[in-house]
Amino acid sequence: MADPNQRNARETFLASLSQRHWRLTAQRRAIVDAVFSTSEHFTAEQLLAWARQRDRSVSRATVYRTLPFLIGTGLLREIDLGKDRKCYDPNYAGHPNHSHIVCQDCGRVIEFEDEDMLRLGETISARLGFKVVAWRLQITGACELARRGGTCPHRPRQG
Ligand SMILES: [Zn+2]
Ligand SMILES: [Zn+2]
Repeated sequence: MADPNQRNARETFLASLSQRHWRLTAQRRAIVDAVFSTSEHFTAEQLLAWARQRDRSVSRATVYRTLPFLIGTGLLREIDLGKDRKCYDPNYAGHPNHSHIVCQDCGRVIEFEDEDMLRLGETISARLGFKVVAWRLQITGACELARRGGTCPHRPRQG
């Protein structure tokens, strides 16, 4: 579900287009609308499916070309899940300080934000002579169920 931050991100994005020389075709608009109407992490293939619900003519190539452009605006962030898997996070405009835990088994991404950790980051940065301007932390972990049962129940079944 889109929260107000997502709608604002979409407005910010659309307002910036005139300076970016990027023509908002019908296909691109379907992709942009799909990106900014979710606050969940998604893969490129999921985005393709969502965009096609809005406009059936959206091509995979357009999705893959549009993603780097959106990332370049700072309103969308790429998350590297390891093993050549990537997903995309539309949540940075409204929640620039959040971090992620990734399940090493199924690749599920869980967001968290922690005041103590932010303070620690600021303290460490200040000690090294820096002021924090952006924050990116990713923890890869084994969830409790995976530790008990060997595999995470969220893992997509194969075969
Ligand atoms: Zn996130
Ligand atoms: Zn998992």
